[in-house]
Amino acid sequence: MSGRVDLHTHTFYSDGVLSPLQLLEKAKSVGLSAISITDHDTIDGYLEALNHKSKFDIEIICGCEFSCYDDGREYHILGYAMDPTYKTMLEHLHNFRNVRYDRAKQIKKKLDNLGYKLNFDKILDKAGKASIARPHIASALVDEGYVETPRQAFEKLIGDGCPAYHPKAVFPVEKAISLINKAGGVAILAHPRNTVDQPTLYKMIQSGLDGIEVHHPSHNQNHRKFYHSIASQYWLLETGGSDFHGNRDFDEINFGKETVPFSIVESIKYHTGLR
Ligand code: AMP
Ligand code: MN
Ligand code: MN
Ligand code: MN
Repeated sequence: MSGRVDLHTHTFYSDGVLSPLQLLEKAKSVGLSAISITDHDTIDGYLEALNHKSKFDIEIICGCEFSCYDDGREYHILGYAMDPTYKTMLEHLHNFRNVRYDRAKQIKKKLDNLGYKLNFDKILDKAGKASIARPHIASALVDEGYVETPRQAFEKLIGDGCPAYHPKAVFPVEKAISLINKAGGVAILAHPRNTVDQPTLYKMIQSGLDGIEVHHPSHNQNHRKFYHSIASQYWLLETGGSDFHGNRDFDEINFGKETVPFSIVESIKYHTGLR
């Protein structure tokens, strides 16, 4: 196979808006040869996509964007090519669904205290099949007229460090890497931008990080150059993708454009075969 691939996408199983089938159709329309559905803390979208696999000439890589909270900061670790039946991973993902539910209750309570009254059922409704993520709460805040856009909800209320922010459970990056590796997959630091200092990055590499997401819409040329050089220096995989959610600014522009060559998929497979 050849062509371009997108290794970072979301469906309505997390905070994206498309079904897995709609996402595959979209991938086909822009000519992608492989895609990874990397919903937050779930592989349900990937599993559903497999049911439609035969209709498309597109390789579907098992993926997941794991939420990590470590030393008071949030990091996202992308896992690829895990065994989707690995029990310990499925237990983690199941528990994390509950973590997200409890956290949404905490955020709702904080919003209540600030005078922003939301009905919890409305938030559940927004989440639908997904486990609850902040964009669902943002959307409920827009519907109630408290803010004009989801972005405003983040900036004013629920973004990191804002008055109604509440962290997810502590799940250190080291544990995510080890879980992904034990599930037979590779662990990649998602969109590091300027959010990771060098000692922390080196600690992650020492813990077995397999790669860095070098190509991401939030990365400027300097980020790309810098993480490319780190990846080369430490023999790390260099992945990328659009982080398509379907309802964000620039999603349509980035999808099909923020891609990496198919050879990265081969490298991921080679890497997992080495374990
Ligand atoms: P959660 O995983 O529940 O903490 O929600 C995080 C998700 O919220 C991210 O994956 C983004 O999709 C979205 N998000 C985070 N920050 C912002 C922001 N400033 N504006 C809009 N969406 C955001
Ligand atoms: Mn998201
Ligand atoms: Mn992310
Ligand atoms: Mn993402």
